[in-house]
Amino acid sequence: MPRLVDVHTHVQFAAYAADYKEVINRALDDDTWLVNIGTQRDTSAKAVEIAGTYPVGVYATVGLHPIHTEQSYHDSKELGDGEAARSFTSRGEEFNFDYYFKLGQDEKVVAIGECGLDYYRLDKDTKARQEKAFTSQMELSKKLGKPLMIHCRSAFPDLINFLNRESDKLVSLYPGVIHFFSGDIKEAAVLREMGFYFSFGGVTTFTHDYDAVIKSIGLERILLETDAPYVAPVPYRGKRNEPSYVKYVAGAVAGILGVEERTVAEETTRNAIEALSLTRP
Ligand SMILES: [Zn+2]
Repeated sequence: MPRLVDVHTHVQFAAYAADYKEVINRALDDDTWLVNIGTQRDTSAKAVEIAGTYPVGVYATVGLHPIHTEQSYHDSKELGDGEAARSFTSRGEEFNFDYYFKLGQDEKVVAIGECGLDYYRLDKDTKARQEKAFTSQMELSKKLGKPLMIHCRSAFPDLINFLNRESDKLVSLYPGVIHFFSGDIKEAAVLREMGFYFSFGGVTTFTHDYDAVIKSIGLERILLETDAPYVAPVPYRGKRNEPSYVKYVAGAVAGILGVEERTVAEETTRNAIEALSLTRP
């Protein structure tokens, strides 16, 4: 077992084009495993390709992020500034089941997503597009027997309704992870009851906004993440984030729960291995 697992990171993004191997090795040398999360066709394929070059400790997910179902989103940290990246984001992506099914069969793929709902910017058909892509990804999750890596922003009531309505498509026992959970205590309780795990990242090192919900969930359902390259923890706040910084998140969660950092590391690592079947041969 590794000391720590960063269950949600994006080292395959353009922000690491020059040095992703060094970034990954810094994590592995620090006894930290990582899961590179796909967000659209190219970042999903790249995550699988990178995972395949490491015998153990580097995993991938494949999926379509809700914001990439829209037409006008572009993040140069994620996609770079090349013409290909720009043309992709100018049209948005329609979820292609066969493409992701093929990628998702790879043994290093441990979950489907990030998928879900993001109502931060709402266009007239945002909700319909996101629901359609999310439903297909739940079907893929069920078909492959691999859990969901869910992104949800400003949409928790709809997420819960949706998961209830489509509950026949959830993988039993370990249905998935709600990444960077930002809902309230009641919503956490409902999702916990459905079997979900909750990951928290760098924000725990510089705000107390999540302390109460983290305490309410309890260590047995908590996972650690960096969401790198975004939201670096203290002492790297404002800089490019990376998986080896997940130890600072472990320290913050230990402080919130009033337990030793070693306990947080052990429990969250065990949770990650269970929730994402990381030891899959
Ligand atoms: Zn992410």
